[in-house]
Amino acid sequence: MATELHVPSTRSPRAASADSTAPRSLDTARWCARQGWPVHPLAAGRKTPAGNCDACRRPGHTREGCPCAAAGRWCHGFHAATRDPARIGRWWGEHPEFGVGVSCGPARLVVIDIDAHEQGLPGRDRLLPGIPVPEQVDLTGLANGFHTLAVLAALRGATDPATDESTLRVRTPSGGLHVWYLAPDARRWRSSAGSGGGRALAWQVDVRAYGGYIVAPGTTTGAGTYKVVGAVRRPAPLPPWLAQELERTGHLPVPRVPGSHPVPPRALQAVLAGGDGRARTGGALRSVLTEVAACAVVAHGAAFSEKLNRAAYTAGGLVAAGHLTREQAEQLLRSAAAAARPGQERRAAQIIHSGMSAGLRQPLYPRGRA
Ligand SMILES: [Zn+2]
Ligand SMILES: [Zn+2]
Repeated sequence: MATELHVPSTRSPRAASADSTAPRSLDTARWCARQGWPVHPLAAGRKTPAGNCDACRRPGHTREGCPCAAAGRWCHGFHAATRDPARIGRWWGEHPEFGVGVSCGPARLVVIDIDAHEQGLPGRDRLLPGIPVPEQVDLTGLANGFHTLAVLAALRGATDPATDESTLRVRTPSGGLHVWYLAPDARRWRSSAGSGGGRALAWQVDVRAYGGYIVAPGTTTGAGTYKVVGAVRRPAPLPPWLAQELERTGHLPVPRVPGSHPVPPRALQAVLAGGDGRARTGGALRSVLTEVAACAVVAHGAAFSEKLNRAAYTAGGLVAAGHLTREQAEQLLRSAAAAARPGQERRAAQIIHSGMSAGLRQPLYPRGRA
């Protein structure tokens, strides 16, 4: 039965039969390695890595200088992952009971891990981090990661990854779904747990990338088998909208920027505290400044000039309407720009100057009409 295929096989029937004595787990591991994905053993019947050796279990032992990898042992979980056929043949040949984990980072995989756990809803601010869900929105029926991700995709007018038939999708024994994507470039996407308190794409949606691994399709644990859904057995490129959402939610490493500093909250506060219609004024300014500051997480990109220009234009409009002085506006813009692109102050100053000059001709939220 096609749906029972234990491994997303792409081999010819002849090749398959020549290998029919190989255990399923070895087959799975070999298939993954052929896709370019390093693999490591999972403990029999579990979704956690096979255990470390005695020496590696000793308190105080660290991965640095550990001889196990060189000696061909699988200690330290996904750090031991390999594509070496001999090692793979030995690990799963001798231990057919092992499951298969794929180390996502070196495989350039970004796997969206959607959970369907019975769990009380968190606060509205944690359903879709960074996207406010107003009190008046009825949350009846929203119960798990399938729903939060569907809402996010709908907000962006994009295909819900759970229904994305263009890519490899794997049903988990607990009713969740792994949607596998391939990073189209060298950016190192970071993992996250969507139900934890830190970085997250959406509630009950985890991201498996650098620093994480994913259970390979075909692996069986005590709870059941990870099964491919549909006909596609290859990960599609990470959709640009999803990359953007991952970037927005902090799934790229923030580069160390010497001497960088955030938008000074006190200066912003001073602006927000004065003037009529300050909520709209403050909101308008805050959102454009936030966009400029957010450029700090991307090392390069044309979007920075555009965002800074837009922020300067908005600020110019606010200055023209008398909500803040030109000096205040320039200070805010300069510090946001310096935080995002240190060392490019001269270029930033030019963009700020031209953007503000244009904005000064278009007063924003004139007093009395706010
Ligand atoms: Zn060891
Ligand atoms: Zn070790």
